[in-house]
Amino acid sequence: MTGDLLRDITQIGLVRKLGVPRIPVLRRYEPGAPLLDGPALVGVIGAGRFAEPIRALLTAAGVADAGDEGRIAAVVLDASAVRTIDELAGVQQFLTPTMRRLQPCGRVLLIAPEPDPADPEAAAVAQAFDGLVRSIGKELRAGATANLLVTTAETDPAALDPSVRFFLSARSAYVDGQVVHVGPPVGRAVDPAAAGDPAPADEPLSGRVALVTGAARGIGAAVAETLARDGATVVAIDVPAAGDALAKVANEIGGTALQLDITAPDAPQRIVAHLEERHGRVDVVVHNAGITRDKLLANMTADRWNAVLAVNLRAQLAINAALGEVLSDTARIVCVASTSGIAGNRGQTNYAASKAGVIGMVRALAPQLAPRGVTINAVAPGFIETEMTAKMPVATREAGRRINSLRQGGLPVDVAETIAWLARADNGGVTGQVVRVCGQSWLGA
Ligand code: NAD
Repeated sequence: MTGDLLRDITQIGLVRKLGVPRIPVLRRYEPGAPLLDGPALVGVIGAGRFAEPIRALLTAAGVADAGDEGRIAAVVLDASAVRTIDELAGVQQFLTPTMRRLQPCGRVLLIAPEPDPADPEAAAVAQAFDGLVRSIGKELRAGATANLLVTTAETDPAALDPSVRFFLSARSAYVDGQVVHVGPPVGRAVDPAAAGDPAPADEPLSGRVALVTGAARGIGAAVAETLARDGATVVAIDVPAAGDALAKVANEIGGTALQLDITAPDAPQRIVAHLEERHGRVDVVVHNAGITRDKLLANMTADRWNAVLAVNLRAQLAINAALGEVLSDTARIVCVASTSGIAGNRGQTNYAASKAGVIGMVRALAPQLAPRGVTINAVAPGFIETEMTAKMPVATREAGRRINSLRQGGLPVDVAETIAWLARADNGGVTGQVVRVCGQSWLGA
């Protein structure tokens, strides 16, 4: 606490002296908070199919139309029908006048088409949105973010709802400059009449059973708490040495604690047996447990290498392989990777290899699990304020906090909110994706 206070005071002093812009305070979700804290503007270019359903979603959520003047909390542009460079100019014409109207922690959300390989101009224009959105993210200030949803001709507008809600709301506070593909929901089409009542808006994970590894502290504890807040029943796993902290987390959220080392040969079977006995199934699996054993490759030992690969990658593969029939038919698997696995990091060859491996595993398993109705995605945190990052040398830590569009480190809850969005039963259109929770880190962006 004292360290944090000292850091804040030093920061304010430095900021004044150097004239550097202040670090924005990000708006974060509180239960019961409105979707947006101001009006929204929804535009469409050509024959986009998503603008009308999004307007209806916003109206139902009590969000007013921003009209032609005044501040805007969110801008949504349905550009899903844009195929030519001339139509792309319409995107600039729509967005330019809105940029200065965006209020602090505002949201820009674009909806673009999937590149069409049969039409080079359409493919080029579809890809243009990547550069456009990533640049908007870098231009925005005061905690505002820009993200992109990529759709196909088969994307049902309803499949977009959970993603629109997530990216517009304060739940996505530290998710910036991301591109997420939303396809048709995986699995067999579900008859809405047979699907039962939809989950209540403030408890979207109501009735779901979730497993979280590494739940005794840090990001894992925040994931367990956030999933429980959203209505899930949580099975929290961590090593026996963290038993007291694990029990505390589990008790506070009314979940169960399972003490085990996920690298133990019998760990997958023990996990499945626990799920079968207590709940008969699992709806959400969060592979969060992870370790670092940093050394330059020149000084790397086999022990350090193997320990990191065993926890961060081999255990996830073994547990996924064992889950089998205990996975429900709307199960969502979320694997915690890292921006180090995307960009690489000095001193982290073992860690980055393991986290890039997680991304490879997700991409391989997504099409295998889709026919069953199961999705699998990765979240890649950037710099998140936890005990793991508190151990970094001070200069590396300060740099890590600053080198992103939001100019600060994220909080464990930011990763947890992203996982909670991917965990929803109605989010079957997002699979095989890697979503960075990094404030649009400049590393490997
Ligand atoms: P942390 O060290 O604070 O917590 C990790 C938890 O995993 C601990 O409770 C630990 O006991 C548990 N764990 C470790 N090995 C285990 C095993 N064999 N079996 C069961 N549990 C085990 O770490 P964190 O910062 O909260 O990170 C959580 C995840 O997020 C990790 O996968 C990490 O690689 C990833 N990540 C963190 C950051 C960050 O900035 N903190 C950035 C990118 C990725």
